[in-house]
Amino acid sequence: LAITQTAKQRSLELSGHVGFDSLPCQLVNKLVARGFCFNILCVGETGIGKSTLMSTLFGRTFENEEASHYEEEVRLRSQTYDLQENTVKLKLTIVHTAGFGDQINNEESYKPILDHIDAQFEKYLEEELKIKRSLFNYDDPRIHVCLYFISPNGHSLKALDLITMKKLESKVNLIPVIGKADIISKNDLKNLKRNIMNELLSYGVQIYQFPTEDEDVAEINSSINNCFPFAVVGSTDDVKIGNRMVKGRMYPWGAVQVENEDHCDLVKLREMLLRVNMEDLREQTHSRHYELFRRCKLEEMGFKDTDPDSQSFSLQETYEAKRKELIRELQHKEESMRQMFVNKVKETEAELKEKEKELQERFEQLKRLHHEEKKSLEEKRRELEEEMNAFNRRKVAADTLMGQALQGCSQQPLKKDKDKKK
Ligand code: GDP
Repeated sequence: LAITQTAKQRSLELSGHVGFDSLPCQLVNKLVARGFCFNILCVGETGIGKSTLMSTLFGRTFENEEASHYEEEVRLRSQTYDLQENTVKLKLTIVHTAGFGDQINNEESYKPILDHIDAQFEKYLEEELKIKRSLFNYDDPRIHVCLYFISPNGHSLKALDLITMKKLESKVNLIPVIGKADIISKNDLKNLKRNIMNELLSYGVQIYQFPTEDEDVAEINSSINNCFPFAVVGSTDDVKIGNRMVKGRMYPWGAVQVENEDHCDLVKLREMLLRVNMEDLREQTHSRHYELFRRCKLEEMGFKDTDPDSQSFSLQETYEAKRKELIRELQHKEESMRQMFVNKVKETEAELKEKEKELQERFEQLKRLHHEEKKSLEEKRRELEEEMNAFNRRKVAADTLMGQALQGCSQQPLKKDKDKKK
């Protein structure tokens, strides 16, 4: 049936205007009425100029709490703003990394950033899998672009930059920028840019490439693809140049005009990021990075498109298979927990028995000691009693002797008196 239908397809000329050529306009109107979301992640060490660059790019001051250099770990701070340019509404989310590069050990610094990106993908996937989903009106939380700020001090990338960028490349559209590019000379900047690109190339770090398929933007995009990394200068201050006021930074030796292409690449970055390629960044996020996340996540959950015999897998079968697998896992866990519990009880029982035995032995020992002490005390008591009896006997004998002696003494004077009388 499909073959006959294809064979039957014919091109027809219309005899007059019917109106479906307005479909693109209908689409545009619908999208404009709904508004757009764009989420930027700024990764870079504290004080490299992330907040200032965001304010410079969008021409307004975004209030952002100044990060300290004493954060214990990297934290991500997110702020959302509603912006409007003509009739187009943009919900802009800027995510900053606070404390990046400030710890003594930076080994794990990339983790909170990856976790944040994954968490946004997860939110989107949850919405997609809901029974009652509303993706059209859903505020897309996924990160569409990551501006990675490289320090202008030094000759190339630091190990932290390379590791973080390598981890981020498959998760997000990565655009490297050199922050505070006004603090180094033109020549040093040229060398720094060359060294950075060579290093990214030799470590195989994939950075975002502006698309060149669409012929309207192919020329500008392919020329800018050779300008990475963008050397940017940020400022929200107005400086007077001749009789014009421009955004810039005033120094004792002159002024850096942030929107002057001879001074820095801010205008190029703004053009590429906002005017020419914003939609491509959003699309790449969806079709490349989110798709990869979704595929891995669904595979992890047991979903497959085909079974080992290349037969397409039905959702029902996948669900049943996953359910059975989970039940098996649960039973296995239950069994091992039960076994663990039994072992624990046995261990505790053995410990208690051991303790009881120890206590019994201790009790017996104390009893023996007590008995021996009692025996020796009784022995002593007996000895004492005997001593007391002997003493009493001696006392009685002494008393008797003393009585007799006294009696003897009292009779002698009488006898003397008698003798005298005679
Ligand atoms: P963050 O911590 O990365 O957000 O950095 P901030 O944007 O708060 O900037 C820190 C300091 O650097 C502020 O005093 C800014 O005025 C200054 N700053 C920002 N951008 C530039 C720049 O492009 N060049 C120079 N020389 N200083 C800058």
